[in-house]
Amino acid sequence: MKVVVAVKRVVDFNVKVRVKADQTGIDLANVKMALNPFCEVAVEEAVRMKEQGSASEVVVVSVGPTAAQEQLRTALALGADRAILVESNEDLSSLAIAKMLKAVVDREQPQLVILGKQAIDSDNNQTGQMLAALTGFAQGTFASKVELAGDRLNVSREIDSGMQTVCLKLPAIVTTDLRLNEPRYASLPNIMKAKKKPLDVTTPQALGVSTASTNNTVKVEAPAVRSAGIKVKSVAELVEKLKNQAKVI
Ligand code: AMP
Repeated sequence: MKVVVAVKRVVDFNVKVRVKADQTGIDLANVKMALNPFCEVAVEEAVRMKEQGSASEVVVVSVGPTAAQEQLRTALALGADRAILVESNEDLSSLAIAKMLKAVVDREQPQLVILGKQAIDSDNNQTGQMLAALTGFAQGTFASKVELAGDRLNVSREIDSGMQTVCLKLPAIVTTDLRLNEPRYASLPNIMKAKKKPLDVTTPQALGVSTASTNNTVKVEAPAVRSAGIKVKSVAELVEKLKNQAKVI
């Protein structure tokens, strides 16, 4: 079974981001970038499948700037076999990304595509679902457990009322919850080995996919600063403030 894993280059989760002065987006100058945490879980799951003998090859794909090769190399160091970069410097919509991933899926013909449930920069949570719609593949989103059973994949997912298990006929799309596994750290020898693994670079044009966007970001604003709290001396004072100041009771 060939597995394709979609990985995104995002701002590292430890970075406190700043909005650009002209409110067109986030200031990315000199900011530490990383592999999206949900994508790390996706890579780990695919690599475990390969180690258990159920996956034959793990191909990682990213859509983004030349620098996204760094995150592809990280995925290779974690155990993926080869990488594909669809190079684009544009700010692409989820639909455009899903269309590019569909073009890669058409070319690679995997039995399974694993994506993160969301990218921590844009929090869209829609690329996997769009890819499922475009390919017509079965989908199991927010997976916290994945089990291969012949030509079926059982995916357990947490929902409001408890755990739900869906049985997907392959080929299928899975999006990962953080509960699915704990990604490994890349060892130094594997980081060195990853430098020699194949990394193909293509473009949206070569894949015949339009990058035209159906939506436009109007403005990006930092959240309002929260005012400092106060300490009250008695319950009576608290009730008075809730009644007359906050007007919530
Ligand atoms: P999103 O729908 O943007 O929250 O992203 C969900 C998942 O889609 C991510 O965790 C990735 O697996 C995949 N994805 C989103 N953007 C890209 C991209 N530019 N390149 C590759 N995969 C992506």
